[in-house]
Amino acid sequence: MASLLLIKNADVYSPEPLGCVDVLVAGSTIIAIGKDLAISGNVHHTLDAQGKLLIPGLVDPLVHITGGGGEGGYHTRTRAMELTDASCYGVTTLVAALGTDAISRTLEDMLAKAKGLEHEGLNVFCYTGSYAYPVVTLTGSISRDLMLIDNMIGIGEIAISDHRGSQLTTTELARVASEARVGGMLSNKAGKVFVHVGDGKGGLQPLHQVASETDIPLQQFYPTHINRSQALLEQGFTFAKAGGVIDFTTSTNQACLDSGEVAVVDAVFQALDAGVSINNISLSSDGHASLPVFNEFGQLTGLEMGRIASLYETFCELVQANLPLSDAIKLVSTNAARNLQLKHKGQLAVGLDADLVLLDAKLTIDSVWSRGQALVRGGEPTRYGQFEIR
Ligand code: ZN
Repeated sequence: MASLLLIKNADVYSPEPLGCVDVLVAGSTIIAIGKDLAISGNVHHTLDAQGKLLIPGLVDPLVHITGGGGEGGYHTRTRAMELTDASCYGVTTLVAALGTDAISRTLEDMLAKAKGLEHEGLNVFCYTGSYAYPVVTLTGSISRDLMLIDNMIGIGEIAISDHRGSQLTTTELARVASEARVGGMLSNKAGKVFVHVGDGKGGLQPLHQVASETDIPLQQFYPTHINRSQALLEQGFTFAKAGGVIDFTTSTNQACLDSGEVAVVDAVFQALDAGVSINNISLSSDGHASLPVFNEFGQLTGLEMGRIASLYETFCELVQANLPLSDAIKLVSTNAARNLQLKHKGQLAVGLDADLVLLDAKLTIDSVWSRGQALVRGGEPTRYGQFEIR
């Protein structure tokens, strides 16, 4: 029989507030939520969570799990992530991507890393492709990758409106989207095109052009870095109001903000003020990307590394800025899971995966479970990656 875990009297958010209830987990699955659950049989572990908040595990739709960057030469390639880079910050599900470099970084290496992180307890999905066009794949085409490889759920992050991208035409972009769409249909996956939007001239225009000139719906695209400038943010409002989901990047630095990036908390409140539904916005960390700093001539002058932790930190900032907790949860978990059709993720409900984060009243992380396995207890990791330096 699967081991039972009973979490008693937490203030539970599904993301909707459910009040102080008990949550019963069997093995990897939530099997009951309710008041004063009476359990017959062996409860292996009962946890009194009075005064604490229980929320779904965070879902991060963009992490460079094998490292990214390299845009300032070989010594600027960032390091791969380790288990606790995510688990200690409540992230239980993430989607892996390559970036600018699809030469020294490969999909084979990324898939192997994803499987390793899954073994250590996380839930890891992958995008095929990279910034570049023609799209690199594992099996020869985007649709074959989606159909034949379980972890592959879409393509990304393909770069548009960016000097580092392949300057692909809208016809080429439409072909990429159609392959992703068909591969997704055949494998019952979302088949989204996760789009890196740069600060170039076009902004989101190529996506609208594909939607207006072809039979690909706008919602096939899932554009990220929409808070990179005020101008792009406002284009994002139009995209979201047309039914798409826009993604804001939580990893940032002073140089990015100085060069016009809109801080995520500000971007979220601007979007809501502009009439964008909370359901059409998600946040991603862009963890382990490099944060390049360019001068006015487009030359690289410095580099930092994005952190998965920024997703959780931004969640805390949003709640401190008086965004309702249930809305903040949607931004860091529910919306990305729904948009990517990760059906057992992003919510707390009977039958879904037991990906749980227990927070104290100040939002400090107490415990994290992924598919029912404890990764963090009492604020300390209970597991580390195989070769992780402690
Ligand atoms: Zn990007």
